[in-house]
Amino acid sequence: MSSTLRFQVVGEAFKKKPIEVPNREVRPSEFFAKYVFNRQKMRTFLSDDVYEKMCDVIDKGTKLDLQTADAVAEGMKQWAMKLGATHCTHWFQPLTEGTAEKHDGFVEHDGKGGMIEEFTGKQLVQQEPDASSFPSGGIRSTFEARGYSAWDPASPVFVIGDTLMIPTIFISYTGEALDYKTPLKRALKAVDKAATAVAQYFYEDVTKVISNLGWEQEYFLVDEGLYAARPDLVMTGRTLMGHDSAKNQQMDDHYFGSIPRRVAAFMKDLEIQALELGIPCKTRHNEVAPNQFELAPIFEETNLAVDHNMLMMSLMHDVARKHGFRCLLHEKPFAGVNGSGKHNNWSLSTNTGILLHAPGKTELDNLRFIAYIVETLMAVHKHNGLLKASIISATNAHRLGANEAPPAIISSFIGKQLTDLLTALEESDDDKLFIIKGKKSLSLDIPQIPEILLDNTDRNRTSPFAFTGNRFEFRAVGSQANCAAAMIVLNTAVAEALTNFKKRVDKCIEEGMPKIKAIVAVVREDIKACKPIHFEGNGYSEAWREEAEKRGLDVEASAPLILDNYLREDSIEMFGKMNVMTKAELIARTDIKLETYIKKVQIEARIFGDLCINHIIPVATRYQSQLIDNVHKMGEIFPAEEAKVVNANNLKLIKQISEHSIFITENVDRLIDARRVANRIEDTREKAIAYHDTVAPLIEEIRYHVDKLELIVDDEIWPLPKYREMLFIR
Ligand code: ADP
Ligand code: MG
Repeated sequence: MSSTLRFQVVGEAFKKKPIEVPNREVRPSEFFAKYVFNRQKMRTFLSDDVYEKMCDVIDKGTKLDLQTADAVAEGMKQWAMKLGATHCTHWFQPLTEGTAEKHDGFVEHDGKGGMIEEFTGKQLVQQEPDASSFPSGGIRSTFEARGYSAWDPASPVFVIGDTLMIPTIFISYTGEALDYKTPLKRALKAVDKAATAVAQYFYEDVTKVISNLGWEQEYFLVDEGLYAARPDLVMTGRTLMGHDSAKNQQMDDHYFGSIPRRVAAFMKDLEIQALELGIPCKTRHNEVAPNQFELAPIFEETNLAVDHNMLMMSLMHDVARKHGFRCLLHEKPFAGVNGSGKHNNWSLSTNTGILLHAPGKTELDNLRFIAYIVETLMAVHKHNGLLKASIISATNAHRLGANEAPPAIISSFIGKQLTDLLTALEESDDDKLFIIKGKKSLSLDIPQIPEILLDNTDRNRTSPFAFTGNRFEFRAVGSQANCAAAMIVLNTAVAEALTNFKKRVDKCIEEGMPKIKAIVAVVREDIKACKPIHFEGNGYSEAWREEAEKRGLDVEASAPLILDNYLREDSIEMFGKMNVMTKAELIARTDIKLETYIKKVQIEARIFGDLCINHIIPVATRYQSQLIDNVHKMGEIFPAEEAKVVNANNLKLIKQISEHSIFITENVDRLIDARRVANRIEDTREKAIAYHDTVAPLIEEIRYHVDKLELIVDDEIWPLPKYREMLFIR
């Protein structure tokens, strides 16, 4: 980019005014889910009989017969056509990072030379997209390219533009999962089964346990003109070079600050569109870094929440462009300021409405509460490495362990009150615990649990898995990740812990122990067992790393090695026993994750090398020549002794530019060599390790010198928009 062009682009960005957002003359309650075929629409567009059957399919997971499917499809078509839909698509989540769709028109020959609009139950329920270009990790050889997408009735269909979107799972010809949704649904089933069985110790009327997810989506906005002028942002989603802006987040003036008007207009527009699609948007605010923001909806059932997050991320990209922005979902788009995450607030609730994590009024409620907390901690303890694997990626690696949320060690913060409570139970003695008061009421000697366990000030922001009153907040999830990856592991691990818990309690009961006493005994045993995961201190400190290692927690920080956790024996056993993923599926998934890691670093290295050689070195050299020219001319007009003095500064700069330029060119060559060596490695894991150990660090090393040059070279000829220009929307 020429200097004049850079100034033009920057100038334009600063001149932009907020665009008018169509102000819906109605309340959100009136346009909420306008484009969603929810129960209310089902009532209108389906016969009573078909409506009832659909409710059973959604609530009880009963099978849908083809005749009913035809009737449902017809109702959907009528509804969708009223909204202008002409096409339909199965909408699924392959193991790439986004969603996939393939549109088919409703048109069919009518047999009389004309056309009719048709949409059948068969089209609704199952399609056979060619799966050959989606990652399968070797599960599907190309001659068996077929994959099936199958309707997930638990997530309602919706209309976007002229298309009826049908959420589906995506599996191979031989039935293996090729997506996120399939194992997620299996994990949710497993946790339902295990948690319901345990809930029945306490409440006989519980028949179902629901896993809830409330995600908080962080993101950056940059002006689209500036974005277009940064090839690194366009290609990789992050800036690979750029010196810190003099002012960034050190004044703490952005967090919760007043929202810039252009951004407020974007947020308003986004919220309206999201609400119309049934996403219950609730919270919006400025985040810590300049140009960083957050959006959070009201929590929902996990499967639906995951779909809504995927939909939200694509809406954010669309709406941002309309407002002259680009939305950056990368975990670390800018060095030196905070990165973006996606806190996953997770809880369990039952069909009778009791939130399993909320403290109750009776002592039995309290014991139930403690049992679920402790078994969640057991799950997180046993599979802490695997949980970390579920959130690691080439992009999230820039956030993890880099002295900002979250550290590269999974631990859990539960707050003082809960800690005291667990200690009291651990140390309590049975005689005191089981004084039977009066007839049937029993004293557990558990201290009273206050309604609100922790207020907002008592939060430990450095904890990757924190208990926050009525839920756990898994904070390590990356901003652009599919939440399902983390939710699959967490729900499966909790299912396994609760299954083991029940097995041990039942054994005690069989041996003649009263039920409550048996529960307390096992809970007490587990409070002791899961202690290593419990950590209330500063998760960023070096002392914690050492301590965590002593406690046997996974402290690995290398992304490819973290992924090994998927294939640990206890992981394979857990996924198998809980019917969530087979070993073959796990091997495939890990392979895909490693491949993705390699490709991401590879693309970064390539574009980085290009930028260095084609953008940075030429302008540095040009500026250096100007300085040399000046030095010569000064020599002509000043006597030799004086020339030395007046040229001192320029000579210093000339030397510095040389030093940085030499480092950059030499090391870009090394970078190319490192890639070449890594590319020759056959084994995917070894190759990913090579990319991690030899390619990725070189990018950072070279970057230091590029950023130094940015400080030296004349601003007028610097080819890339700078941090201070990109990070402050007016
Ligand atoms: P904070 O940033 O203080 O953690 P936010 O208000 O930004 O809080 O987001 C809290 C998120 O937690 C929201 O998405 C909310 O819906 C979700 N949430 C609240 N209660 C629960 C719960 N019991 N289970 C799951 N998610 C919850
Ligand atoms: Mg928040």
